[in-house]
Amino acid sequence: MPGSGAVRSIWPAVPGIMPGEAFGSWFGRIAAGYGLDVLALARAADLGLDLGAHARAWIAAHPPMGSGARMLSALTGIAAEEIERMGADAGPGRATHAYAYCFRCLVLNPWDVAAPYWQRRWLQGGWSGCDEHPAEYDELRPSHLQTHRNMSRLLKLAGQRHAARVRRRRSNCDEMRVVSTVRGHH
Ligand SMILES: [Zn+2]
Repeated sequence: MPGSGAVRSIWPAVPGIMPGEAFGSWFGRIAAGYGLDVLALARAADLGLDLGAHARAWIAAHPPMGSGARMLSALTGIAAEEIERMGADAGPGRATHAYAYCFRCLVLNPWDVAAPYWQRRWLQGGWSGCDEHPAEYDELRPSHLQTHRNMSRLLKLAGQRHAARVRRRRSNCDEMRVVSTVRGHH
């Protein structure tokens, strides 16, 4: 229990929180570790998290504060302050029409290649793309979150969308090549 000096993780193998990680991302990675969806995990923990209707906003969910954070701390072994800190710059936390992200930054975690994560800065109003990888901008809809309710499912979807973008780009290039070849003959 919190304050006992011997906080023990009740959930084994809880991943650490990454720098700038969104609470929903961390919670979604825990859920993925158990093959659960975030709604089932939130219900099991009785945390009263607001994940949006039918979990349509789970990636943007705010962390629990106070006693809720202490409860989650006791379950995960992560300090309550560290959990609460994810709420400080977490954006509005409400369902929005689209959740923008940079695919490259999503999948390439410089601290741990095996642990892709969603960044809090993407959830703040006004983020409109990554300076380093502008071509990797993408958006997920609330309906995507509703059907992909943990981080490994979300990452799979993001990967599929990326592959489709690459295919589209390649076929556009081919079309351009055909056009320029045809033009070259005139
Ligand atoms: Zn990026």
